[in-house]
Amino acid sequence: MNNFFNEDKLQEECGVFGIYKTDKEMQCAQLIYYGLYALQHRGQESAGIATNFEGKIDHYKDMGLVTEVFRGDVLSELKGNIGIGHVRYSTTGESHIENAQPLVVNHKNTQIALAHNGNLVNAKALREMLEDTGVVFQTTIDTEVIVNLLARGLKHGVVDSIKRVVDIIKGAYAIVITTEDMLIGVRDPHGLRPLCLGRTKNGGYVLSSESCALDTIGAELIRDVEPGEIVVIDSEGVKSFSQNNWVKKRLCIFELIYFARPDSVMDGTSVYLSRHNAGKILARESFVEADVVIGVPDSGIPAAIGFAEASGIPFGMGLIKNKYIGRTFIQPTQALREEGVMIKLNALKENVAGKRVIIVDDSIVRGTTSKKLVELLRNAGAKEVHFRVTSPPVAHTCHFGIDTPYRRELVGAMKTVDEIRDMIGADTLAFISNGGLIESVGGGTGYCSACFDGDYPMEVPVLED
Ligand code: AMP
Repeated sequence: MNNFFNEDKLQEECGVFGIYKTDKEMQCAQLIYYGLYALQHRGQESAGIATNFEGKIDHYKDMGLVTEVFRGDVLSELKGNIGIGHVRYSTTGESHIENAQPLVVNHKNTQIALAHNGNLVNAKALREMLEDTGVVFQTTIDTEVIVNLLARGLKHGVVDSIKRVVDIIKGAYAIVITTEDMLIGVRDPHGLRPLCLGRTKNGGYVLSSESCALDTIGAELIRDVEPGEIVVIDSEGVKSFSQNNWVKKRLCIFELIYFARPDSVMDGTSVYLSRHNAGKILARESFVEADVVIGVPDSGIPAAIGFAEASGIPFGMGLIKNKYIGRTFIQPTQALREEGVMIKLNALKENVAGKRVIIVDDSIVRGTTSKKLVELLRNAGAKEVHFRVTSPPVAHTCHFGIDTPYRRELVGAMKTVDEIRDMIGADTLAFISNGGLIESVGGGTGYCSACFDGDYPMEVPVLED
């Protein structure tokens, strides 16, 4: 085991957003609010906004959904024409307000606000190094390591300090920062986590995890921030600096499979079309006779449509999702589950009863969801249930920000496809092939698909199985 690396498994699924309005008198808080609202699917545990007026930073953050956090007059009290925002979901027991972002720190006479999506693999070692020099941490998130390293180098200027930080930190990150009179975006050298740049109608600029948030506020997508790029936006416009450590692009393929919204375009690839293609490819790779193709909302729907188009089997709505469940929602206990409490999804009997059903979902991680779905369809009277998955079996831990847990919890690592089929109770089960997945996103090697093939783009911590 290499103790350079962080051995703890704390994953952060998050969304970041930033805005720069050229007119100093304009307030940006409400636009950030709408941006975060469009990124809500990337994290439902906490939300926060920090705004900057001439270097003075106000911020507000709390646990809950964007609409729960920003009530009443909160937004109107956040003053400034530059700002950043964050939505967060963590997967271990680190769910408390101290870990909400953006983090705002005072360093000498400078205030810095920073928000981060992703996961560093060497945060633990860096934290220990900083602690040895007397730094006191108030949170357990990697972001605080980044902000401390940034503050340390500020005497060299902000951009220089960022360049020093990115030489030290290893892992996945899309970062937005505001300090002095700047909005800054930073993307890790592999571009594992997405970040794009847009322009607002009256001359401002936006940074966002996903392009769907740009559409929401009427901004136009200019381009993606490049892997290993630092983008600085100030009164002179947009400047680009490259980090010294650019390596091959490896966007997280799970963004396209599951995480991102279908109306986003990521590094030039439409999320919707990649899912639609995956469905078509599945129909080619694992066709089965059936009466209806249904998709698991939300990410399985475009793929089910693609499957139906390619196979000639009609698409139907088979599952209805309650849209109002956040991740802080009170989950039923095991006892209630055994009583049959199914809160998130219900089967549409009219479309599945007495039918041979093909159900398309984006992934099988632990296998609990697919088991429940098959049961739901059978209880609704489906005659046959054929499960099709638009990604290969998840067989390796993600170290870069997606909640695919320890290998022992990953059914794809522990069982064969036939064993998984028996476990979930489907008549047939098929996953897309590795080649089919790459074809669905337009080909090439610019993706990290380590959760499927174990080919990590960098050295990763050794976790206990
Ligand atoms: P599982 O029960 O663990 O097999 O969950 C797989 C289901 O959860 C699929 O329907 C996915 O849409 C969804 N899913 C996959 N990855 C994640 C994730 N990182 N966070 C939350 N849900 C996920």
